[in-house]
Amino acid sequence: MQEEATELDRALEGRGWLGRVAIPPGRMGAFAAQTQAMRRHALSMSVLIGLGFYLAFAAGDWFTVPDQVWLALTFRFAIMLPLGLAVLYWLHHVRSSLMVQQVVTCGFHLLAVSLLAFLVTRSDSANALGFVFASYAALMAMVISMALPVRLVMVLAITVMLVQALAIAFGPIQLPILQLHNLMTAIVIVGPALFANRTLENERRRHFLLIEREESRKRQLAEQRDMLSRLAALDPLTDIANRRGFHAALASDLGRVGPDALVAIAMVDIDHFKLYNDHYGHAAGDRALRRVAQALAEAAGPVGRAGRLGGEEFIIAVTGISSEEIELYAERLRASVQRLALAHCDSSTADVVTVSVGVVLGLRDRADIPTLFETADAALYRAKAAGRNRVVIHDLPRPNAEACRTG
Ligand code: GH3
Ligand code: MG
Ligand code: MG
Repeated sequence: MQEEATELDRALEGRGWLGRVAIPPGRMGAFAAQTQAMRRHALSMSVLIGLGFYLAFAAGDWFTVPDQVWLALTFRFAIMLPLGLAVLYWLHHVRSSLMVQQVVTCGFHLLAVSLLAFLVTRSDSANALGFVFASYAALMAMVISMALPVRLVMVLAITVMLVQALAIAFGPIQLPILQLHNLMTAIVIVGPALFANRTLENERRRHFLLIEREESRKRQLAEQRDMLSRLAALDPLTDIANRRGFHAALASDLGRVGPDALVAIAMVDIDHFKLYNDHYGHAAGDRALRRVAQALAEAAGPVGRAGRLGGEEFIIAVTGISSEEIELYAERLRASVQRLALAHCDSSTADVVTVSVGVVLGLRDRADIPTLFETADAALYRAKAAGRNRVVIHDLPRPNAEACRTG
């Protein structure tokens, strides 16, 4: 994720060949996809506007090529008009690759330019040379507005230049100096047009990269936020939920079950843990806490939620359990710790680490979380008082329920 942002930063800062903003290779597909609709639209617009100009300038034929007016009008209205409409229809209704559409559209414009050049060669009027300049104006408009790749721009520019060279060579005034004028005009027109094409393309690229960077930063922030909230809900020593995480998970569990569901909360406290620390040391105490936490989490199973309340106290919540099942369930929790067989020679209950478990069982809509916690704590207190390493279950009053059972 970080590398992704750095790659985009570098692409935004750096410039490639002739100042081109380089898109990282892995993102070329996304860039092409994102700009495709705009490029297709630019092609249609160029045909529409080009056709508009081509037809509008028909009036000029009486001045430019007075001896070829009918041929000029035939080119404009009998060839270019239907062809332009056909190209527009094709661009909108036939699904072809962008490259094919660009080549066909360039072909349409080149045909317009070539027909003008043909008129220059057929006319005896010196005014016909005006078509040479008109063709370069058209070329400039095409290069700037069609959002074409540079390769195509170069092909277009060279073709227009060669067509004009032919028009001049076979035109009404066959002066060799005009070829030099043609070359100079081509350079003066194509240079700035290429520059404008490059600048617009760079803007599109920069815009794409900025949006990509924004998206990447948003993803990065969301990931960091998720990680922080995961960490904020975890106990760093035991890797199970801490008090905050447990409360959040319990609240969402309770929100999912119906009001008639039974909810059980088991408070688990390690017996004589102070003595354990005193005898085996704090580091061993930490290790024991980790083992106990994992054993409880496993015994709680997929139906239960385990958390560390703090110190050597743990808590397990389980929903949708019956009063018969809870006895077995709580006993499984207690036994899971004893089964670890962590030696505890100073314990008065057994020579291994054990836990006392206080459980409350009640209807979801009859008890709020603080009541459940208090009642479970009271049950735990009774388990301690009764000699530790045991389970005490408090069944909260509800229709057809027994009051209080001791395990
Ligand atoms: P009881 O059977 O009545 O619960 O006795 P106890 O000694 O377990 O209870 P007490 O509350 O007297 O002592 C709890 C001990 O838990 C004290 C403290 O040293 C230990 N403890 C609490 N948190 C940690 C911890 O993060 N790491 C370690 N190693 N020990 C801890
Ligand atoms: Mg305690
Ligand atoms: Mg204790």
